[in-house]
Amino acid sequence: MIYQRHIPREELFSAQLEMLMQNGQMATVVANLVGLVATMGIFWPFVEFTSIMLWGAAFLILLLVRSLSMSNALVNHSYRTNPRGLFWRLILGSAATGLVWSSAYIFAATRVPITMQYTFLLLIVMITAISVGFSVIVREYFISFLLTALWPIAWWSLVHYWHEPYNLLIGLVLLAFTAVLIVICDRVHRTFRNMLALNWERETMARELGDMAGSLRDRNRQLRDARRQLTDLANIDELTGLGNRRMVNTALKAEINRARRTAMPLSVILLDVDYFKAYNDTYGHPAGDEVLQRLADIMQNATSRAGEVVGRYGGEEFILVLPGSSPSSAMRIAERLKEFIAEAAIPHGESQVAGHITVSQGVATVQADADVTPEDLIKLADTALYKAKASGRDAIVLEDAPRQPRVAEA
Ligand code: GH3
Ligand code: MG
Ligand code: MG
Repeated sequence: MIYQRHIPREELFSAQLEMLMQNGQMATVVANLVGLVATMGIFWPFVEFTSIMLWGAAFLILLLVRSLSMSNALVNHSYRTNPRGLFWRLILGSAATGLVWSSAYIFAATRVPITMQYTFLLLIVMITAISVGFSVIVREYFISFLLTALWPIAWWSLVHYWHEPYNLLIGLVLLAFTAVLIVICDRVHRTFRNMLALNWERETMARELGDMAGSLRDRNRQLRDARRQLTDLANIDELTGLGNRRMVNTALKAEINRARRTAMPLSVILLDVDYFKAYNDTYGHPAGDEVLQRLADIMQNATSRAGEVVGRYGGEEFILVLPGSSPSSAMRIAERLKEFIAEAAIPHGESQVAGHITVSQGVATVQADADVTPEDLIKLADTALYKAKASGRDAIVLEDAPRQPRVAEA
């Protein structure tokens, strides 16, 4: 779910200050510098050289201080750490600059010819109008400049209307112009602020979406791991670590299909511990468990080829799935198993066939062209196992469908 986000007031304020300084720093300095040079050009013939130079130098220093202060604030992120303090510094700077212009005008008004005076006024008005563009993002910043630059001139003109008939007109026009600029400034300011807020919302949402995507990825990975663990749990026999009946059936199905595709034989060995109930009764169930674990290890060691599967098919019944094994090679594996188990020589005093644990094995093979289901194959191996048991145990019987079964060893 994506929420509508609204930029917090302080955050918006900081963003406004940052934007003002990023966009306005250069423009403020350039506009005022151009004005300064133009002013010196206008007043050159009429005002004392030292006065002009002093005024120019003082103004330059003011601009320099303002510019450095803004750079500093940008580097230190004061717009975030101390926005109020920075705000007042900016207002002070812009008011001081405005006062420089208005005082220069009032000073010059009585000393330069009327055309020069009005040219100068035009220059100030232009600088003011231009600065709407870059400074209005903080409304007070612009208004403080507007009021300190143009208002004193307007009032002075109104007060001194008798010197010059145009002064009255100029004063009224300036007042009206100031009012219009304030209205425009308000409109533009709102637009800027909305833009900032929208931008903030977009960035916040993008970040949140990114976070969400990240946590979804994590969650997916966890789910995948959990699913893998569940699959393992569902397919693995806890006691022996072998695949369980379910896993064997799945493997068997796949191997029968593969055998059909590749035209290779497929064998299984079904293996059952002899007189195991008697073993449990004599040595105890935990000892019986250990026997099952040792047999599982032996079976795993006896198989080595890729695709061969060893599983626990029931209580003390195991199965080996041997892809590509002909009846003779499956018989060889069964013989090897029998040898390994005999070598392990796990004592079994109650066994009727040997003094140690033995197993009976039913081997079944399907040839590639035979249409056999996994159940058929298991049934075949089970029949062979039954025959091995019937033949006296510790035996291997091969059931090679569709040929007649034969007893390999009894
Ligand atoms: P046979 O030679 O005919 O196979 O005789 P058997 O005693 O092995 O056959 P039966 O099916 O009568 O007994 C199987 C025994 O296997 C019964 C049960 O106690 C034992 N068994 C089955 N699962 C486990 C197991 O997980 N742990 C232990 N310790 N014993 C088990
Ligand atoms: Mg059994
Ligand atoms: Mg048994």
